[in-house]
Amino acid sequence: MSAASAASDLFVSLTGAAAAGAWSAPGRVNLIGEHTDYNDGFVFPFATPHRTHVALGEREDGRIRVVSTFDVEPVEVALADLDALFPARRDEIVEWARYPLGVAWALLQATGTDPASVTGVDLAFASDVPVGAGLSSSAAIEGATASALNDTWGLELDRVALAQAGRRAENEAVGAPTGIMDQMASMLGRADAGIFLDCRSLDAVVTDLGFAAAGLELLVMDTRVKHSHATGGYGERRAACERGAELMGVPALRDLSVDDLARAAELMDDVTFRRVKHVVTENQRVLDAVRTLREQGPRAIGGLLDASHTSMRDDFEISVPELDLAVETARAAGAIGARMTGGGFGGAAIALVERDAVTEVSVAVENAFDEAGYSAPHLFTVAPSAGAGRD
Ligand code: ADP
Ligand code: MG
Repeated sequence: MSAASAASDLFVSLTGAAAAGAWSAPGRVNLIGEHTDYNDGFVFPFATPHRTHVALGEREDGRIRVVSTFDVEPVEVALADLDALFPARRDEIVEWARYPLGVAWALLQATGTDPASVTGVDLAFASDVPVGAGLSSSAAIEGATASALNDTWGLELDRVALAQAGRRAENEAVGAPTGIMDQMASMLGRADAGIFLDCRSLDAVVTDLGFAAAGLELLVMDTRVKHSHATGGYGERRAACERGAELMGVPALRDLSVDDLARAAELMDDVTFRRVKHVVTENQRVLDAVRTLREQGPRAIGGLLDASHTSMRDDFEISVPELDLAVETARAAGAIGARMTGGGFGGAAIALVERDAVTEVSVAVENAFDEAGYSAPHLFTVAPSAGAGRD
């Protein structure tokens, strides 16, 4: 059964009536630009064909109820109580429900809307975005909720404001300190296009990728590795970036260019320098990728993907042997370019592959994992797809 029908079926079993409407929002994959977001830099993600669907109906009593195929137990609160719950008493709400309820709270806050002036709602969720596979199922549930409530409550927020409400929900209602890339990609995605995003200004340019026309596929290679030091490693990298910016006398590493690296090398210890070097060169690679796509087409970005991986492996030091093996094997089997994607210490890598080489590359990666004694990776292609909206 499709996730869309699963959501409407779940709605019927919750309320006994058909839903008034259905909305959905995609996950995302970051094509290039890693650990640049919190340095005020550039990222270049696209929206996945995997989506989270929500079926919505109105109710007369000013309450909001959410249910998901993940959890049979519905969660219900009064809209008027959201302000008291978030962020102070968020622990009273089961974690998954903080995402949709947090979005409702953030939307009312952002618009200064009196909860008594909007209709109560029932929301039923179903998704085909895999959780924790680097596709941002969190942004998908946030985007579906934001889109559905924006329309139902007539808030008339634009897509950037909806993305910001999703981020606020994730930061304050859930308690996860994430940037805004995922939500922007989920809100702004378009078929065969990426979102070139300036994380300082939030200017976003939807940029043609041209993968489909060129006969290219983007292969995701989820290693299924989750390293326990991911959280600590992330914090250490952020701290190194802040230290580097301070030593260079700039507000953020975004303010440095490749030409500043020689001076950086003299001013800081080797580890801090290599962290800085990754971020500065990665920002430049995002700019280069956008220009290269426009001037030379998608086959020409392979070298930038490869260089991004090398930088994360050697300078930022966030890769793991499984990611390196996936990337190296994919390249050796004919991929145009490959890199790990996401925060690192596990998760997924991506490879840009000719359509008729997908099977060959996939088999090579599966065999290499088998020979190395690693557990089987999860391999699938993702076509850059449309953003959140009413179905
Ligand atoms: P990801 O990398 O997939 O975004 P996160 O940890 O950021 O991983 O978010 C995953 C969490 O989001 C899940 O553990 C769950 O709490 C919530 N979530 C995502 N999709 C759904 C869904 N369809 N129904 C309920 N909760 C969901
Ligand atoms: Mg997430």
